[in-house]
Amino acid sequence: MPKFARMIKELFFQHVAQTSEFPMAIEIDRAEGVYLYGPNGERWVDFISGICVTNVGHKAPEVLEAIRTQSERYMHAMVYGEAVLTPQVEYATELANILGPNLDHVFFGNSGAEATEGALKVAKKFTGKTRIVSCLNAYHGSTHGAMSVSGNASMKVGYGPMLPDVHHIPYNDLEALAQIDEHTAAFVVEPIQGAGGVVMPTPGYLQAARARCTEVGALMILDEIQTGFGRTGKMFAHQHFGFEPDILLLAKALGGGLPIGAFVTRGEVMRVIQSNPLLGHITTFGGHPVSCAAGLAAFRKIQSENLLQRVPELEAILLRELKHPAIVELRGTGLIYAVLFKDFETSDAIRAKALELGLLTIGFINIKNGLRICPPLTMTDEEMVESCHILLKAIEQVCGE
Ligand code: PLP
Repeated sequence: MPKFARMIKELFFQHVAQTSEFPMAIEIDRAEGVYLYGPNGERWVDFISGICVTNVGHKAPEVLEAIRTQSERYMHAMVYGEAVLTPQVEYATELANILGPNLDHVFFGNSGAEATEGALKVAKKFTGKTRIVSCLNAYHGSTHGAMSVSGNASMKVGYGPMLPDVHHIPYNDLEALAQIDEHTAAFVVEPIQGAGGVVMPTPGYLQAARARCTEVGALMILDEIQTGFGRTGKMFAHQHFGFEPDILLLAKALGGGLPIGAFVTRGEVMRVIQSNPLLGHITTFGGHPVSCAAGLAAFRKIQSENLLQRVPELEAILLRELKHPAIVELRGTGLIYAVLFKDFETSDAIRAKALELGLLTIGFINIKNGLRICPPLTMTDEEMVESCHILLKAIEQVCGE
């Protein structure tokens, strides 16, 4: 038995920093496909993919093989940007092939928040402007700049001052887009507000935002950290809407389960980081070769196994099966949904009951009365039916039939 096996949970509370006073604290022993397993025979459906990370499921053989092969060749070799590292080059090239000529330069970092930071810096330097506009109810990460552009004031208490010249507007408000003006470096927006409770864009909103940015010379930064890599049924959500951002933010599923983030833009914009000053945006571990290899394997799997086609099929099962009078709203698209209940107490009791019955889901940062549904795209029909039935059973046990 490993040295700490019996006291592992106590040690978790004693030595691992907690982000809330009530972490779920389930112990994960192993994971495979759409399931997580505990050390005492527990099995949970992973109905959230580690929050939109394991889009190709846990322990995908292609991803494991890529990790093994790359780690045997080399792991960390050199700080980001100096040496030619094949996994970075291949992944950037394949992303550019799908994203097109306006999004063909990739800066690899380590996380989503870091992608946001890089994009904000590049937008300021490229435009020579300082004003940043972003949306209320948005989430772009927890580092200082990313928190500044996130749109939940209550999360920032005690952490101020935030970045100067950041202005928040309501999401989906066409008139408010006028606040993106000639002094604006960038408008930062999610195509679907994830942490905000899966708030969908109203028809024409994102296109209007795109047009406004072009009109005043601001860069549009689109945060697809949660919506990317097939979650909405297209590889990237903006492909549903027929527009291109100036800068695209990626992370989460970008690494196929390993940590990585990226911002992607055109060469003209990206080149501002090369000089005056040189080395103004650098990272040691950004685009780690093993993360790139794993991410590329997952990216290829989404394409070679036509997983995008599975998204509407699985969504149809979800919408057919998950019906109960206690559900106030089932909101979303593809495989990114919020299931809303009347209040936090109900929602959280259902979350806890579902966990007990074998399904893992979690609430949102910015709304209290909902649970996330964002399972792996590799789920079978039967697994989706099983998942919905577990969740329904939890709802029935908390709210009645
Ligand atoms: N942007 C969005 C839309 C996110 O959902 C998240 C994380 O949940 C982030 C940014 C931050 O990413 P990370 O947690 O990797 O810093």
